[in-house]
Amino acid sequence: MESSASTRGDIHGARLTIDLDAVVRNYHTLREQSPESETGAVVKANAYGLGLDHVAPALAQAGCTTFFVATVDEAIALRAVLPKAGIHVFDGLLPGWSEPLAEINAIPVLNSLYQINLWLEHQETLGRKLPADIHIDTGMARLGLNEEELQAFRESRDSGPKIEINTILSHLACSENTDHPLNEQQLAAFTDALTHFDGKKASLSASAGVFLGPEYHFDLTRPGIALFGGNPTPGSPNPMAQVIRLQGKILQVRSVDTPQTVGYGATHQASGPARIATVALGYADGYIRSLGNTGKAWIESYEVPVVGRVSMDLTTLDVSSAPDYLTAPGALVDFIGPQQSTDDVAHDADTISYEFLTGLGARFYRTYIGG
Ligand SMILES: *Cc1c(COP(=O)(O)O)cnc(C)c1O
Repeated sequence: MESSASTRGDIHGARLTIDLDAVVRNYHTLREQSPESETGAVVKANAYGLGLDHVAPALAQAGCTTFFVATVDEAIALRAVLPKAGIHVFDGLLPGWSEPLAEINAIPVLNSLYQINLWLEHQETLGRKLPADIHIDTGMARLGLNEEELQAFRESRDSGPKIEINTILSHLACSENTDHPLNEQQLAAFTDALTHFDGKKASLSASAGVFLGPEYHFDLTRPGIALFGGNPTPGSPNPMAQVIRLQGKILQVRSVDTPQTVGYGATHQASGPARIATVALGYADGYIRSLGNTGKAWIESYEVPVVGRVSMDLTTLDVSSAPDYLTAPGALVDFIGPQQSTDDVAHDADTISYEFLTGLGARFYRTYIGG
């Protein structure tokens, strides 16, 4: 769709299809799960690797007006596609960042007294109040004000200059684990902190938090991974729609027999006569190396395991179970799609969908459907 190569035929080895309608369905599912709150969308890291320029407008069209990114560059890129959206920036500020953020009307999440002071200084320079979020650390020890800092902030606010608080937020450490005691502890700490910010908007939950129950919803939720098909309720069936399809093409098929080994390091030993297909997809594309000898792919309804190591540009599959006519050069193999989800593959790779999606490389022929 966006490559001129399409006019010369498909010259790409691997393709990534992104279903924007599925992203929109997921947005509506999340909204129905917390109807009393606003549902924002986290589109950091290029919309979890799936393309900010396509994903953000689709979500805006679905009714989303509040977006979260991590960095200043991401905020600038998002502003270019959505001139009116609310844009919040998780990383907040370092010296030199206030000006570009204020220029594009983005809202930094202020994570420390240091960041609060930078924003106050910029307010003074501009001679007007600037909106910002305040992040309160309720148990993650990563970003946000701890108890003493929160107290110091409140005291300085009583006497000194004020920023215009847009949202008070905090982040849950264990929301995927519904039984984890930290969830309730963080909820209690957050609720307690909010008593000092009467009437301000509050936001606690990312994807999994949306499914912890209404007491976790507050005014605004911040789902990311669930929009892109990741299961926000691990251990239960996934309520989200699969968003991506990842396919590679067979370059050649080789018949091997014992005692032949396959690939670098000779880590796979053919246990009998087998047909090994070499596919143009490798770790340079984000098909990560830990899938060697553990991943699986599908040729139509035939499950074909990854055998041997994944190399930079190539992956080898045992396609003995699939009929010859489906394994000709150029035949498509499904690595993620109807038969297995991003979560399934991430699990086989001993990682999480977040890392898998954001690691998808630039070499794919990317096609967007719907939206
Ligand atoms: C990334 C992030 C989110 C979104 O998390 P998901 O688990 O992808 O829904 C929400 N809030 C903060 C602070 C984040 O960093």
